[in-house]
Amino acid sequence: PKKAISIDLALEKRSKHISSILSVSYKKPIQMESAAFQYMYDVHGNVFLDAYNNIPHVGHSHPKVVEAGQKQMAKLNTNTRYVYDLLAIYAEKLVSKFPNSLNKVFFVNSGSAASDLAIRMAKTHTGKSQVLVMEHGYHGNTQTSIDISDYKFNNKKGQGQKDYILKTALPDAYRGKHGNNGPLYVKDLQQEMSGQLNNIAAFIAEPVVGCGGQIPLAKDYLKHVYPEIRKHGGVCISDEVQTGFGRLGDTFWGFELHDVAPDIVVLGKPMGNSHPIGAVVVTDEIAASFEKGVEFFSSFGGNPVSCAIGLAVLEVIDEESLQENAKEVGDYYQQELKKLQQKHAVIGDVRGSGLFIGIDIVHAGTKNTNYELAQHIKNELRQKHILISTDGPDDSVLKTKPPLCFTKANVDTVVSAINTILLKNQF
Ligand code: PMP
Repeated sequence: PKKAISIDLALEKRSKHISSILSVSYKKPIQMESAAFQYMYDVHGNVFLDAYNNIPHVGHSHPKVVEAGQKQMAKLNTNTRYVYDLLAIYAEKLVSKFPNSLNKVFFVNSGSAASDLAIRMAKTHTGKSQVLVMEHGYHGNTQTSIDISDYKFNNKKGQGQKDYILKTALPDAYRGKHGNNGPLYVKDLQQEMSGQLNNIAAFIAEPVVGCGGQIPLAKDYLKHVYPEIRKHGGVCISDEVQTGFGRLGDTFWGFELHDVAPDIVVLGKPMGNSHPIGAVVVTDEIAASFEKGVEFFSSFGGNPVSCAIGLAVLEVIDEESLQENAKEVGDYYQQELKKLQQKHAVIGDVRGSGLFIGIDIVHAGTKNTNYELAQHIKNELRQKHILISTDGPDDSVLKTKPPLCFTKANVDTVVSAINTILLKNQF
């Protein structure tokens, strides 16, 4: 192989025209060269076990997905103003994964574009303007997506909460004031916002709050909050960008885990296995309201190459029983991490579903977040060629959301590495 340039030189070249506002992982970032399934390879030939990346959902560079994209790219790539079968075929396959009420798809190219469109549709449909968002939620990088993302607007460098935004407390089973009792959080919401509920166009939440620290919404929270929003004329949006496509193991979508059906669903990340596809899936009624307005057009949304790739991803999930694997390997992962928690008091909480897991690192004997130790574990894992990251308001939760082809042997590698690091821990 040709000799790689040094990391210092690579960073210097990058910084010439790329802004430093785009962060890199680790003090000494990794120069990636290629990847296959749950493994990534750097320019020096080192192999990394990917216990982190949730976008290459069915595995990095999955051959069926790659081939679908390559073949279609060589044949036709155009936009939805022409008629090609793949659009209808893919839409039908995607919609078949949803409850019957969710029946129309609008394709875009990112989760951010999907969140943005979802809010616009909710406002158009309801004629209302307020949006109720979840504490620590994240929905994307457009202006509207930032407006509805507490994770960004509430950051000390953020823009602050806009007038049209209402925010509700995270129903967090670990640190929340009502523990895992979802309906009590909804009671609080009813009291705190009683005068404003009629103005709400949409309530948006992730079924497991990702950037907020991998926090599953408390039991029966959505079951109680959805009717409350609807009673006052608002619609309910589920952001499934991180939770969708079988990752949670028990169900294909996060909202199904809570036994509710939203009015609007936001999709992205895993949908194209790293190819940029996003979508908004809505009810016929909401689509009908939207159709009364100006034409909707996305140059790339629903293009034939994206459709071919998205279709291949759905087929691979089915053919390789990846939702079932997420359940089996994810349950094993949590079980092994919970055993580790018994040995190390700095593991405050292990939570999540399927292959969507958060490990809350605390100061032993407390629930106080432990940023230094979480960073130390992340960096030490990198030295051991294991990729994991941190998130949450204090960046103290280890997040592990690997490609769904992850195995129990991979789990053993990660868990034993964390154990070794914690045995030597001086924090
Ligand atoms: N929603 C959620 C829950 C996300 O995690 C993200 C990305 N982290 C987005 C929306 C935005 O997606 P994208 O980066 O593709 O625009």
